[in-house]
Amino acid sequence: MQKSIERIAGDSEGVSYEFPVFRFDGTDKAGSSAYLQAALHAGELPGVVAIDALMPMLEKAEAEGRIKGSIIVVPQANPIGRAQYHFGEHQGRFHLGTRTNFNRGFPLLAAPDVELLPDTTLGTADQRLKTRLLQLSIGHDIVLDLHCDDEGLAYLYVHARLWPAMADCAAAMGVDAVILWDEDTDGTFEGASITPYLNLPAEVARFDRRVATTVEYRGILDVDGALAGADAEGLYRLLVARGVILDQALSTPGSFTGIVAPLENIDMMPAPRAGAVLYDVKPGDRVAKGALLATIVHAPGEAGGRTQLFAPQAGIILTRRSRRIIRGGEDLLKLVGDSKSADARAGTLED
Ligand SMILES: [Zn+2]
Repeated sequence: MQKSIERIAGDSEGVSYEFPVFRFDGTDKAGSSAYLQAALHAGELPGVVAIDALMPMLEKAEAEGRIKGSIIVVPQANPIGRAQYHFGEHQGRFHLGTRTNFNRGFPLLAAPDVELLPDTTLGTADQRLKTRLLQLSIGHDIVLDLHCDDEGLAYLYVHARLWPAMADCAAAMGVDAVILWDEDTDGTFEGASITPYLNLPAEVARFDRRVATTVEYRGILDVDGALAGADAEGLYRLLVARGVILDQALSTPGSFTGIVAPLENIDMMPAPRAGAVLYDVKPGDRVAKGALLATIVHAPGEAGGRTQLFAPQAGIILTRRSRRIIRGGEDLLKLVGDSKSADARAGTLED
């Protein structure tokens, strides 16, 4: 394993950012290769501690000569967001300098060729970081981008072209749900990882061996040793299932039994009023159409000071907010409906 340090120059004199990159060279040049990164949204740490638990497993496999394909690991992909504090609160989702989401605005290339990427010396620091991350990841058969939600189940976003071929990965990782999407107009990292292959002939794109996914490791507070260990084992099982690592002791993953739904089935439930949120449901709950989801207390102590929200269709609660303060129009939760949402929104994913 080799460690190197990437440097991204800041946008003013005297400022620069660094992040470590770990490389494991495989013994078989034809073996499937993998790229893993965490904390692109810099405050989302469940994936960071999962990688911390995974690294000793990779080092053991390397010492025993069991790593076939090359592996690149970036445990903390966003040193710019990591450093952003605003009035004492960490802000790792948007770049404060440009107000751009760190998981939007990645270049969507026409082919998986790093030569097509913008010059890494151009643009603002966040744009140059994005270009560098793509440069590191493009060309790998397996690209995993580890995130988390507010409060939620463990779930994956997967492009529809990779499903059901990726069902073994979902089973290996032990996630609860898979959300399928089919068009990225915003330039998410996942979109930038799979879009270059979509117009290639099938024998070149090799969707049967390709993996690209945004992994949502539950909620922002689920930074926990036991979960990290279980998630590391899930990542390791995926790498074994896809032939990146050899491990005779592991059996092949069974079939995936979790929820699989298209993105258009998700109801986000925008709040009709500002106030304090009282949830009546939590992630994992199955709800019937018309079930009470939440009550917003907008005029405390007054008659008519509460507004209730009901499920527009039957489904499963995937996520909810981690804070209980809300403004009008902000989304209250993600309900994975049994059919298409009347409020289905365009776009890639809600990460
Ligand atoms: Zn995220």
